[in-house]
Amino acid sequence: MFLDIVFNLSIDKTFTYTVPDSLRDKVAVGKRVTAPFGKKRQMVGYIVGISGQHKGNYRLKDIIACVDEQVVITLELMQLAQWVSTYYISSLGETLGCAVPYKPQMQTKNVKIVSLKEQPKVVQSAIGEQPSINDQLIEGLPREGLKLSKAQAKVMQVLAAAGDMPLSELIAQTGVSQSPINTLINKDILNISFKQEYRSPYKHHTISKSSPPIPTLHQTKSSSEISASIKAEEFGVFLLHGVTGSGKTEVYLQAIEQALSIDKTSLVLIPEISLTQQTVERFVSRFGQRVAVLHSRLSDGERYDEWQRVLKKEAEIVVGARSAVFAPLDRLGLIIVDEEHESSYKQFDSNPRYHARDVAVMRAKHNNATIILGSATPSLESFYNAQTGKYHYLSLPARIDERPMPQVEIIDMKEEKEMFSSRLQQAIAQRIENNQQTIIFLNRRGFAPFIQCRGCGLIMKCPDCEITLTYHLTDKRLKCHYCDYHQPAPQSCPDCHGEDIRYSGIGTQKVTEEIHRLFPEARIARMDVDTTSAKGSHEHILNRVRAGELDILVGTQMIAKGHDFPNVTLVGVVSSDIGLNMPDFRSCEKTFSLLTQVAGRAGRGQIHGEVIIQTNSPQHYSIQAAIDHNYLGFYNQEIEFRQQLQYPPFTHLMNILIRSKNQDQSCQISSMITNQLRMNNPNSAIIILGPAVCSLSKIKEYYRWHILLKSSKLHQMRKLAIKSIHELSLPNSVDIIMDMDPADML
Ligand code: ADP
Ligand code: ZN
Repeated sequence: MFLDIVFNLSIDKTFTYTVPDSLRDKVAVGKRVTAPFGKKRQMVGYIVGISGQHKGNYRLKDIIACVDEQVVITLELMQLAQWVSTYYISSLGETLGCAVPYKPQMQTKNVKIVSLKEQPKVVQSAIGEQPSINDQLIEGLPREGLKLSKAQAKVMQVLAAAGDMPLSELIAQTGVSQSPINTLINKDILNISFKQEYRSPYKHHTISKSSPPIPTLHQTKSSSEISASIKAEEFGVFLLHGVTGSGKTEVYLQAIEQALSIDKTSLVLIPEISLTQQTVERFVSRFGQRVAVLHSRLSDGERYDEWQRVLKKEAEIVVGARSAVFAPLDRLGLIIVDEEHESSYKQFDSNPRYHARDVAVMRAKHNNATIILGSATPSLESFYNAQTGKYHYLSLPARIDERPMPQVEIIDMKEEKEMFSSRLQQAIAQRIENNQQTIIFLNRRGFAPFIQCRGCGLIMKCPDCEITLTYHLTDKRLKCHYCDYHQPAPQSCPDCHGEDIRYSGIGTQKVTEEIHRLFPEARIARMDVDTTSAKGSHEHILNRVRAGELDILVGTQMIAKGHDFPNVTLVGVVSSDIGLNMPDFRSCEKTFSLLTQVAGRAGRGQIHGEVIIQTNSPQHYSIQAAIDHNYLGFYNQEIEFRQQLQYPPFTHLMNILIRSKNQDQSCQISSMITNQLRMNNPNSAIIILGPAVCSLSKIKEYYRWHILLKSSKLHQMRKLAIKSIHELSLPNSVDIIMDMDPADML
């Protein structure tokens, strides 16, 4: 018996191993094993094939152990992983490593359960009103020679009344030590057994059951089309375009109900930062224990157990973030990708650099499943697919209960002197007076993102990243936002020793401070990466808003998504320009969608909402379209620009990133690769742009260059890149990363 095994390494190669007799009936395709690797190492690998014969005549090694009792990668997932590896140019081992997000040493947690050997009746003797424990007789026990101590009697009494219970709970309820319990076990009166306990993310939380509201006409129309597709068990993609607060989630819930009714499972993807308790509760309150939740904030044990519940078919609905697209659901009938335009669905920092939305579409196709892509601001790609008829278009054009869309007002900051325009100040003051809440949004954290010596003009930058350092007020340090470099704020310039140092630009900390100054009586909190690093802090802040304990919440993207706060009636955007000037072909799309999302936080309750956007480019089309809630207007303008410049959705892009600690090397190698690409592309079938220094020219000590490929011929483009890089024998000291459909190219 020979095993084909892949490892989580960047080399795309299958290794063959033999199996010792003792493990023959344990191994199966889709399980993990430990195997010797190289001279001394031992590694975990994935069995991807089993065969009876082997061609090579070299000596093979035995695997050491089989890690999994059960298959963790089903056949369906194996095929999906293969597709991902090919499309995103990663090794199969890397993809499988990403698909099974728990360590091989994870185990189930077992608890000791104490039970009575026989079920006796506890009879209270009728002496007095309140019998002491010693007065209680326990029927049905072996009486001869048995005298129960006070503690033992208490244990028996509790068990007889409550039935089997975990040992720890029994000790807690009776207040006895473990010794009387042990004695009873030894006397064969009590029994002890083991039961698997799931580490549930919701243990301390009982979520009450909700029933569906009466759907609106638009919801009904969408639901019935989706439901027909689910029942037909045919592949179909629906773009559900619904403004914020239009009730998209209710459409999702109906679709899941439909899938369950024909015994099919459902997968719901939600961007990590929107995957809050409140979001999850909407699914759990409808479907209870049938829901499993998978995201990166779970503990290892919780993630493992949720995964196990899915594998064992105890959970038929998975609600999760990006990598949950690989959840081992069987009989998949429905996939939902909420906020499908979100760039966080793209894994950008390690292989496979996959886009979970696109993988989800492929997975739906493999399974003849229905997939719903939901958004208030669909990605240009998805909307284009809906326009060309590749996707079915469904729309929820109005908010629930005919709540009006918030009124959006633009303040031209070229006319204003202060951080907060007088209009925005007035509006905030009015909210505080009326006991309503305000959200203040700024897309940049820290205090001042730009520190410069006024004497010599030196700008403080991270020594490892060439990125300007941001001043953080709370610990009076300068921090790099791309690596963990930080240093105390300098008293004087490191170059000229001048003491006139200017802190300019604004971040969320400075905004918060300014609000404190303007509104000393207001209750203010800030939510960004810096204030939410502790587990649960994110939820804690959101709960305070919901409970009305805060007047003003200041924050970054984190506050823009998915939250439903009925008492928030004002949203202020301090500066909407930061994103627009990014060197990224999607910068306008990102700005439009972010402004629309942030604006969508206002007026979700009974009271009308208002949005004030401060900007230096009031005429910009992405800002103008956001004022009018005019998606189509934005789309028409943007799609024209994409077509002219041959950007997606008209082409596919591949970003080839070259990283090295040596500046010259990064530059030389990118030229070498470009030349090779050009040579292999004589008819210029593929557009090759570059090489160029990346906008982020150095991150964590690595100098960065990139080459951009553009083409509608996906296969040919991929082949060109792989072949060209393969032909050059490049040194190990340089990293070459091929990023297919990149989400950003900074
Ligand atoms: P979206 O996801 O489109 O932003 P939600 O699904 O969050 O919108 O819906 C907004 C609010 O309206 C939620 O509080 C939801 O419970 C409520 N809602 C949704 N559908 C209905 C309905 N048919 N009748 C009454 N309330 C509804
Ligand atoms: Zn840095």
